[in-house]
Amino acid sequence: MIASSPRILRYIFLLTALVFPLFGAAVPAPHISIFVDATEAPRKIFHARLTMPAKPGSLTLYYPKWIPGEHGPTGPIQDLAGLKFVGNGKTLTWRRDLLDGWTFHVDVPSGVSSIEVSLDFISPAGSEGIYTGGATATDKMAVLSWNTVVLYPAGWTSDELTYEASLRLPAGWKFGTSLPVASQSAEEIKFAPISLTLLVDGPVITGQYLKAVPLNPGQTPLVELDVASDSGAALEPTPDVWEHYKNLVTQASALFGAQHYRDYHFLYSLSNHVAHFGLEHHESNDSRTNERALIDQEQRLLSSGLLSHEYVHSWNGKYRRPADLATSDYEKPMQTDLLWVYEGLTTYLGEILTARDGERTPDQFRDSLSYTAAQLDHRSGRAWRNLQDTADGVPSMQDAPHQWESWRRPLDYYEEDELNWLWADTIIRAQTHGQKTLDDFCQLFHGAPSGPPQVKPYTFEDVLSALNQVAPYNWRAFWSKRLENHGPGAPLGGIEESGWKVVYDDVRSEQVRAHEDERNTVDAAYSIGLWLREDGSIIDSVEGMPAALAGIGPGMMVVAINGRKFSPEILREALREAKNSSSPLELLVENTDYYKTFKLDYHGGEKYPHLVRDESKPDVLSDIIKPK
Ligand SMILES: [Zn+2]
Repeated sequence: MIASSPRILRYIFLLTALVFPLFGAAVPAPHISIFVDATEAPRKIFHARLTMPAKPGSLTLYYPKWIPGEHGPTGPIQDLAGLKFVGNGKTLTWRRDLLDGWTFHVDVPSGVSSIEVSLDFISPAGSEGIYTGGATATDKMAVLSWNTVVLYPAGWTSDELTYEASLRLPAGWKFGTSLPVASQSAEEIKFAPISLTLLVDGPVITGQYLKAVPLNPGQTPLVELDVASDSGAALEPTPDVWEHYKNLVTQASALFGAQHYRDYHFLYSLSNHVAHFGLEHHESNDSRTNERALIDQEQRLLSSGLLSHEYVHSWNGKYRRPADLATSDYEKPMQTDLLWVYEGLTTYLGEILTARDGERTPDQFRDSLSYTAAQLDHRSGRAWRNLQDTADGVPSMQDAPHQWESWRRPLDYYEEDELNWLWADTIIRAQTHGQKTLDDFCQLFHGAPSGPPQVKPYTFEDVLSALNQVAPYNWRAFWSKRLENHGPGAPLGGIEESGWKVVYDDVRSEQVRAHEDERNTVDAAYSIGLWLREDGSIIDSVEGMPAALAGIGPGMMVVAINGRKFSPEILREALREAKNSSSPLELLVENTDYYKTFKLDYHGGEKYPHLVRDESKPDVLSDIIKPK
């Protein structure tokens, strides 16, 4: 949790090399100090004060807009308040740019050589928002994402700018971060000077209840789990929980064969009052989920895979990054066309690591895979939108509502590419007669040499070339087909070639039950095509399925089934009974204050996806998820 002094020295050495790259010694890059007062975090407001050099004239400053890992212009500018600029004791005038709301122009009068900027970041309350703009503070804990509290001057890359950061926390709160610490007192933590890139890449988790768990004791580089929660009890799981995360570090190390961090910190927030997501960094990840995620069996299952996904990103996404996502500052737009590698491969590797490290049993892993396959096999939106477009469109569309998901087909480059990379893995194994696997691709593409954070950008051609080095094959045709096709149906070749097939029966898997319990929902997606809340309100309907074909859509409410008041059990019973009956299901539905009865001629019973063995083929999937 706290950096050792040799590491700080290494850091300062690195920085000296970084500070004067492009503009030459005549114009040194600005050195900026930032102090953040987080003592009012429980009130959900963070105060920041920056001091930076300035010259008389117009000074252009940016609030970070395109946030790495968020894949869009999501910098939470709407939550910046209290902005004030002072030079030589006088308040300076400023104006926001008319074409870009993240840009500010400050009038710097003559005689002023440095300015002080004060600003507040207001964190949304009520677990709202997404990513670093989402709810981040509770009465007992908070995560500080530096992009929410900094401004930076135009004309420099984020690598060139040096920030000297300090932070004050609520009394008695502990903290965890990958940022090197220069000194620490009860009042203030001072971090070693660092580039803006690495500052933004180094969030701080803090809280009254915070536990630091070493995940590779005695080894270097250090890997630590810093977990904060709204209660002490949430941090006392059974010991096997920590063992699985220790195994995760071992298994990731075996998978990639090298690492690209000096130390690594899992920053894990357990609270029902913060936004839930995972955000990757080179040397840490900011992952947030339910308070009881370590101590409740169902919550454990639902949050499994979050930390492994974000950890994989240290290699795939941070170290190896699509060239058009590797921008030089936070103002330049990112292009997201290669997210099917960045996120899709990460999803595949993160999922198989949950089985290799024991976080999920093989059955739980296969249930999760079957659920993904089922969802994607019912994507009507495939007809209008190919997989590539789901990646291309994300900067402008990632906030899409969940309603009409099958028709919108929003973020399929995550899960559908999990299926595609599984397929690629089976092809490598078949082409090389089992001599090579996708792990060999990872070692080649993401592996040695180990070292501190750096970005090694890649293009589509680089991905093809690395795949061909592992197993010669027409990878261009494979990926073109996978990215450009319009179906019908999901790419199930990987599941089938690995010796399994997707089937539906009337048994709810542990995962389906956990999802239903957690969200108070009913999953009838693969029978009549409805996801409902326990009160009958329809979260979503799947286009092309019986309910949608009958005229039912999201936002309506099922009031009664076959004349009886709706409840989850009444719905399940009606589905079971319809199997042996020729009468249609009758759903009384309320829609914008009007009631209507819909008849569904459905007799297939309850349907939930599973994987079953195809004995005509070898069981490659079980090899894939075996610990290394
Ligand atoms: Zn990701």
